Amino acid sequence: MNQCYICNSPKTAKLFSSFNVHGRKIINEDEKFDIFKCQKCGVVFLNSDKKINYSQYYGENYYCNSGESFSKFMQLLIKISEDFSFTRKEQLILKYFKNYKSKIAILDIGCGEGKFLLNLDKNKFIKKGIEINKDACRSCKKRSLSVLNKDFLKIEFNSEKYEVITLWHVLEHLDNPRAVLEKINRILKPNGILVISTPNIGSVGFKIGKSRWFHLDSPRHRFLYNKKSLKFLLNKEEFEIMEVKSEFYDYFLDLFWSLKNSIPKILLLLFYPLLKIYSKETITLIGKKQSSDRKKAV
Ligand SMILES: [Zn+2]
Repeated sequence: MNQCYICNSPKTAKLFSSFNVHGRKIINEDEKFDIFKCQKCGVVFLNSDKKINYSQYYGENYYCNSGESFSKFMQLLIKISEDFSFTRKEQLILKYFKNYKSKIAILDIGCGEGKFLLNLDKNKFIKKGIEINKDACRSCKKRSLSVLNKDFLKIEFNSEKYEVITLWHVLEHLDNPRAVLEKINRILKPNGILVISTPNIGSVGFKIGKSRWFHLDSPRHRFLYNKKSLKFLLNKEEFEIMEVKSEFYDYFLDLFWSLKNSIPKILLLLFYPLLKIYSKETITLIGKKQSSDRKKAV
């Protein structure tokens, strides 16, 4: 039986089988993983019956472009889209701190090579990152970023608290998202915000692409959400939902790779921009730490 970890419901059903896949690359077609869905809260998850050592699926070069060669034009497009995305993310956060006089303490969990933190205005933020991957952590330190190379759940924060905590495409990798969110809630200052970006199983890419969905990333992605299941999880861990949105410019080719085998290429290319805006492949959610008054009232 595969009981749902998020809502404890026993009503779960197998959706399809997948293999070891990362983005558009099939790493090993012989490794099979079962993908389940909870009938109650809607979360999609990897079969947890098997005892798998997940760390073996994160290679040393996980954060590097693993030899993938892009043309100069593609590199330029990626750079423009990344810069735009970082600016939008910073604006999204600053919106909640209008008229705020002091610097905003921000913690980016799973900060990778620190690109997001590096792009934040140093006059407005006190930046800190956590990254479990040693190479990525080393590269942050080379850029003078303050980063801890530790498992978030094992870090003692004592009285250290933050105004903002971010999880950019990290939540889906966690096998214990509830424990992580519970700890985040504890180390947020009153009125502090949590920003989460994660793939969206309510998207066209997932519904049509299934095991070829760009964001499936099995077995690295353990839990996948739609708006409903993400809100359910955050409410359960005492966050007030402030905003849920989808940004079409993140991973601008994801939907193309998800649908490439299901839809004639000419149709896909012709309608791609419209499809991409409509599909909402990822979700960004802002949650606010619930005030103690509100908690008492619930
Ligand atoms: Zn559930």
